[in-house]
Formats: sequence, structure tokens, C-alpha cells
Amino acid sequence: MSKQRPPLTDSLGRIHSNLRMSVTDRCNIRCFYCMPEENVEFKPRHEILTFEELGRFARITASMGVNKIRITGGEPLVRNNLATLIAELNSIGGIEDIALTTNAMLLANQADALRQAGLNRLNISLDTLNDDTFFRLSRRRGIDQVLAGIEAAQQVGFDMIRLNAIAIRGMTESEILPLARFALERQLELRFIEFMPLDADDNWGNEAVLTGSDIRKTIEAELGKLEPATRPDPSQPAVDYQFTEGKGRIGFINPVSKPFCETCNRLRITAEGKVRNCLFSHQEWDARQLMRDDASDSEIEQLIRECVLDKKAAHGIDTPDFQKPERAMYQIGG
Ligand code: SAM
Ligand code: SF4
Repeated sequence: MSKQRPPLTDSLGRIHSNLRMSVTDRCNIRCFYCMPEENVEFKPRHEILTFEELGRFARITASMGVNKIRITGGEPLVRNNLATLIAELNSIGGIEDIALTTNAMLLANQADALRQAGLNRLNISLDTLNDDTFFRLSRRRGIDQVLAGIEAAQQVGFDMIRLNAIAIRGMTESEILPLARFALERQLELRFIEFMPLDADDNWGNEAVLTGSDIRKTIEAELGKLEPATRPDPSQPAVDYQFTEGKGRIGFINPVSKPFCETCNRLRITAEGKVRNCLFSHQEWDARQLMRDDASDSEIEQLIRECVLDKKAAHGIDTPDFQKPERAMYQIGG
């Protein structure tokens, strides 16, 4: 399908131009806010979309105006030869930006190949600099590998690296200032993300949400005044701030305390090919089945449009009848 199609618009007029593509549900660590501690059930390999299928899906969405793709998972770097997929996505007309979200455990060895393949941006999840805290959060050791991955990414020339830190009340307050100092020293952008009800073990509660505004107060008390920074892309979920003394930027993604559903432009596909219109939706549309049944591109386009048209106005975490999705973050793709 090469002809440009009408944009991917939902019933509220939100145009979807941003695709989040999960390439695996597997991971090399076990963050408690995402995965179960034990007996994780991963999808068998044959259920996971091939690179060919992912490329086809991306091409179809690009024909409807998707211009940004973020690769995620599970941990995307555990998928073999990820750089091959990135090169393939990079060759699709209309795709202007390819980003990757990773825990960086395997990044040191792959950073160069990813960059050569055309990866534009890296979001690295870094919740702490402390080995024991890393173990408490992720139930694995490995902070040194993560730090080596960040360094390698900077060395091979990635200039758009962002650090994402999850914020959990009663658990990560002590990480705020060390992370902020680490990011400022290395001239990396840092964003704090509020804990969302997407953990497999059902430990989320409102009281565990450490809000962006609380974190901002902690940072300002110690490191100086922050002022709102310009916002080039109104659909970006983060609210960015810069230090008045010009020493760097820090952002906050506040899906719980300040939902940004009104400007959401994201479409998702899970590793096994289910199309979703929201992290929190209870319904999925099966693109893999269609692709493996030899459906035409127009039939797949139709399925994607149905999914987008069904998108709700808001996730409703802040409403009394909110119900968390059946699947956890690693199964959906963060
Ligand atoms: N494994 C990769 C990583 O950790 O960067 C990519 C997938 S992970 C699911 C993507 C992002 O989702 C990470 O930054 C992680 O911190 C975030 N995340 C996972 N569970 C979350 C939750 N319950 N609430 C908020 N963010 C969460
Ligand atoms: Fe793995 Fe990322 Fe989930 Fe942590 S947040 S368990 S690194 S998929």
C-alpha cells in the first residue's frame, strides 16, 4: 500500500500519528511495577510478530499519517537483530522519527549498530543509581551495565537521549536528587513518570503515586528554581521545565495527577500483534490473525481504523469505576 490514505482520526478528532510498537514481552529484569516476580508467562515465539509483519504493519500505518515510531517491550534489546528492524522501519516513506525505550542493560554492545541502522532517539529507563535500590525495584543486579549502556550511547553519538525515572511514593524519593544531578552533569534530559496501575502484581494504589509537582518541589529546594520550558509538540505527554540559571531541563509525565488524554495521538501494537488505542483499554484488535490469514492491506487498515474510532475520551484512572486492564505493562508495551 503506497497511496496516502486519510489520517487516522478518532471520534473526538484526535489524529493518530504516533505508533508504539512492542517487539517482545520478554525482559532481562523484573521491575516490580511492571512484571510479576516469578512464573512470568511469556508468549511462545510463534505468536510474536516477525520483523516482516511489524514492517508491514508500520507501512500501513505510515500510509495513514503515522510519522513517529517508538519501539518498546518487554525489553526490546533482548530481541535478536533489532537493528535490522530499525533499518527496515527507517526505509518506510513518511516515518520521520524512530525512537527506542530500553532498560539499557544490553545497550553497550548494541548502541553503535542501532545508531547505524537509523535510530534517532533513545529513552533509557533509569530509576536509581544505587545498586541495592536497583535490586529492590528490578529484582535483578545490573546498574553497572545500565550505566555502561548510557555511556556507550553517548560515545557513539546519540544526541537525543532521555532518562525516564519512575516515581513511587515511599520508595524513590531518595533517588530524585542523585538522578537530577547525574542528568545535569551529563547534559541528559530527565523525566519522572508517575506510577500507573499497570503492574502485574496489583500493588498499585493512589497513595503510591509520587506526583510530578511533589518532585519539582524537592528539586527546586535543592537545585534551584525551575520555569516552564517551551513545548514544541503539544501532543507530548511530558511537561518540561528548565532551570532559571540555564543548567538543564527536567520533565514530568503525570498521567495520574494530570492526565493528558485530550491530546493523545498514540496507537499501540503488542508483541503478538494486538492493536490497542490506549494503555488502559480493555479491548484489542487482532492484526496478526488478519496478516496470517492473508488479509489485504485495506482490511488491516479497516481494523486499525475501527480500533482508533473506539478510543475513549480518557483513561479514567481518577474515576470511581476505573478498572485496570487485564494485561500488565510488559505485555502491552510501555
Ligand atoms: N524495558 C524497557 C524499559 O524499561 O525501558 C521498555 C519497556 S518498559 C514497559 C517502558 C517504560 O514503562 C519504562 O520506562 C518503565 O519504567 C515504564 N513503566 C513500567 N511499568 C510502569 C508503571 N506501572 N507505571 C509507570 N511507568 C511504568
Ligand atoms: Fe522489563 Fe521495562 Fe518492565 Fe522493567 S519496565 S520489567 S525493564 S519491561
